Amino acid sequence: MSSIDEALSDELENWRQAGLLRTLRTLDHTSGTRATIGTRELLNFSSNDYLGLARHPELQEAATRALQQHGVGSTASRLVSGTTLPHKELESAIAAWKGTPAALTFSSGHAAAMGTLAAILTPDDIVILDKRSHACCIDGARLSNARLRVFPHNDLNRLESLLKWSDAQQGKRRPRVLVVTESVFSMDGDRAPLNELVALKERYGAWLLLDEAHATGLFGASRSGLAAAHQLTDRIEIHLGTLSKSLGCSGGYIAGSQTLIDFLVNRARSFIYSTAPPPSIAAAAAKAVEIVQSDEGRLRCEQTWANAHRLDRWLAGHPLASSPTPPPTTQKQVPQSGAREPASAIFTWITGSESATLSAAEHLLEHGILCPAIRHPSVPRGAARLRLTVTAGHSPADMTQLEAALESSIKGSLQDPSHHA
Ligand SMILES: *Cc1c(COP(=O)(O)O)cnc(C)c1O
Repeated sequence: MSSIDEALSDELENWRQAGLLRTLRTLDHTSGTRATIGTRELLNFSSNDYLGLARHPELQEAATRALQQHGVGSTASRLVSGTTLPHKELESAIAAWKGTPAALTFSSGHAAAMGTLAAILTPDDIVILDKRSHACCIDGARLSNARLRVFPHNDLNRLESLLKWSDAQQGKRRPRVLVVTESVFSMDGDRAPLNELVALKERYGAWLLLDEAHATGLFGASRSGLAAAHQLTDRIEIHLGTLSKSLGCSGGYIAGSQTLIDFLVNRARSFIYSTAPPPSIAAAAAKAVEIVQSDEGRLRCEQTWANAHRLDRWLAGHPLASSPTPPPTTQKQVPQSGAREPASAIFTWITGSESATLSAAEHLLEHGILCPAIRHPSVPRGAARLRLTVTAGHSPADMTQLEAALESSIKGSLQDPSHHA
């Protein structure tokens, strides 16, 4: 065995024994909400294609046209010679849609977060993150070498203590203080208390980076996110989003002031030292931004919410006995005329132990549902879960099949004492 394999294989074995080993699963065939693995026909309840745009013919057409016009690769970084018309059109479209003066696209949302945080913050600065922030924001904050503080999930009292502490810090210059959170949290599907959070950071003169990866496409009059839905766009300094979820493409973006964008063009290393995303993807994403704002986008969004309401009601009637923590359906929600409201299109069944989640996922797979187990380090140890996402593409029959599979999975887990470990 080579020395590198020797050094690494022990760790792999440890992860396997702890139920934490991850492997890639290849889908032999996909078509919207359907996927085939081997001979198994599955319904996909794990994609982030909330509006079902990833296979939209108009996106494919826009990509094909740009592919023929500009070729496959963009051949250079954006600052050298990789900026084409589709890139510029996409950035103008994002800025207009988000309601900000400017926008900049990156090869992924992950790259956008890393590049932006590391560019804006220096070791003299302070970054304060919600405990459940996405890995890309945590990594970007670390990379910046700014002083990093974390507040418990959505705990504004603790955030205020940290802002007070920040206010008292002295340095060569007044430190920049940046708060980082998500509008819809990726692994829990709950929301940040945005109105209160924005008022709080303003009281202390701090800035906010808001990650709208899972809110884009689902909130606001033109479906640009939760900030717009709350009319907070102008009071948030940095809007982070991805083209890879509701927009059905690939890539990430930052929206904000022209000065912010000019600064990132000069300083964001993940933007500067990386080949420009393919023009075909930029063209498809621009088409997606157009469709999201149209009547069709509204109808797709309504369909997603109809499915979210249905699953939310179903879960409310089926308390998941094996959940050590309440399922998300009992989390803080925005009540509307007394009716319950799902917080997002993300639902979780927190089984706790890694093994319980793995067998629940396997059970669902046997019943034709693709919904992989989410485990540490994506979520804390002991909070392993099934994460279900509904999209505009799921039909009423699909939802019925999901409910039947969940029902039988819950029964199975109640009968198997190992799940309570
Ligand atoms: C998916 C995701 C990202 C990263 O976006 P990519 O375009 O997939 O790199 C960032 N933040 C959150 C909350 C996400 O869920």
